[in-house]
Amino acid sequence: MPYLTFDWGNPSSSYKFGAKLKGVIEAAREQVAELIGASGREVIFTSCATESNNAAIQAALKAKPGKRHIITSVVEHSSVLNLCKALEKDGYGVTYLPVNRDGLLKLADLENAITDDTAMVSLMWANNETGVLFPVNEVAEICRARGVLFHCDAVQAAGKVPIDVRQVPVDYLSITGHKFNAPKGIGALYVHRKAPFSALIHGGHQERGRRGGTESVPLIVGLGKAAELARKHLPSYEEKVRPLREALEAGILGVGSGGRPSARSFSPKDESPLTSAGTNPVEGIPNTELNGHPYHRLANTTNITFRGIESEALLILLDQEGICASSGSACLADSDEPSHVIRAMKLDTAASRQMIRFSLGLQNTTTDMEAALLALRRATRTLAS
Ligand code: PLP
Repeated sequence: MPYLTFDWGNPSSSYKFGAKLKGVIEAAREQVAELIGASGREVIFTSCATESNNAAIQAALKAKPGKRHIITSVVEHSSVLNLCKALEKDGYGVTYLPVNRDGLLKLADLENAITDDTAMVSLMWANNETGVLFPVNEVAEICRARGVLFHCDAVQAAGKVPIDVRQVPVDYLSITGHKFNAPKGIGALYVHRKAPFSALIHGGHQERGRRGGTESVPLIVGLGKAAELARKHLPSYEEKVRPLREALEAGILGVGSGGRPSARSFSPKDESPLTSAGTNPVEGIPNTELNGHPYHRLANTTNITFRGIESEALLILLDQEGICASSGSACLADSDEPSHVIRAMKLDTAASRQMIRFSLGLQNTTTDMEAALLALRRATRTLAS
């Protein structure tokens, strides 16, 4: 609040009223750096991860002007995929690595795709639609060994799994505030101290000449504080969020038919949604299946196909009951496109239009899971009849 109200000076000014905010920005930079094991000098504030992704990929390509090949995957966020499509028009060759039915990447595919012409690899840490984790450490090792720059979109992973860039040799790593409770409209890009970088947004001397434009002090402070809190809560994140996700999945998929027997489970009856913990068989919602590897994924994400039910209809009924879910990426919610992620995994267009995703957070409770499950049961019954 102080930075939105009385401390509203311009940090780039030389007068004290503004200049004192430089220290505030640097403190936030350290907080963000600590979340990912970086040093403050390696962190550039951006407006969002879309900008971070664009800046990293363009900087890597500029640093290798003789190389015209990029490797990414078919399940990346649109901020990477659409940039790659634009780069194809500019004459770059792009390899889009496939994923298997579980959404996993094959490292051999990456190894085989790298050629002498490859400038860089851009792969995500965790998928935004399924939560499936890519083997980022191995990818980084392969890239380093082959002399190829590696950018990682770690937007979904930050604050949910430990990230330590001292252990994982990435050259660039993108994060965004709204995935860990910071305000929207602020992101960051990590650039390894030895990785080449040139600005995407040319302008003033802000961010040591690496990103022009007057700094948004309130948003930067918010990102720093959120990073500090995310780091604090990280050790207990899995143990708090995973049981909620497992209970929800057990109620949807049924225990014994895809749900894990150890999950806390709900009864199929609307009147009494929650049963005691244990291995009691639970009847799930018919014709449902989990999308994404059951274990190699974030603790908070669940992506389920409801066969025969269109995502959009289900989402509308859930929304009427106050349940917020989505069918794909929020960035593509207003397009009529089926999920490119599910399509890549299942090679089945119907499945990619009949799935929804729930993303849980530390603020969710068992009561929320009960409410979601009741709403889902009512909605799927209505839509199936
Ligand atoms: N990458 C991933 C994996 C995302 O999920 C998102 C957005 O949610 C982005 C990039 C883009 O982030 P932003 O909206 O901050 O540009």
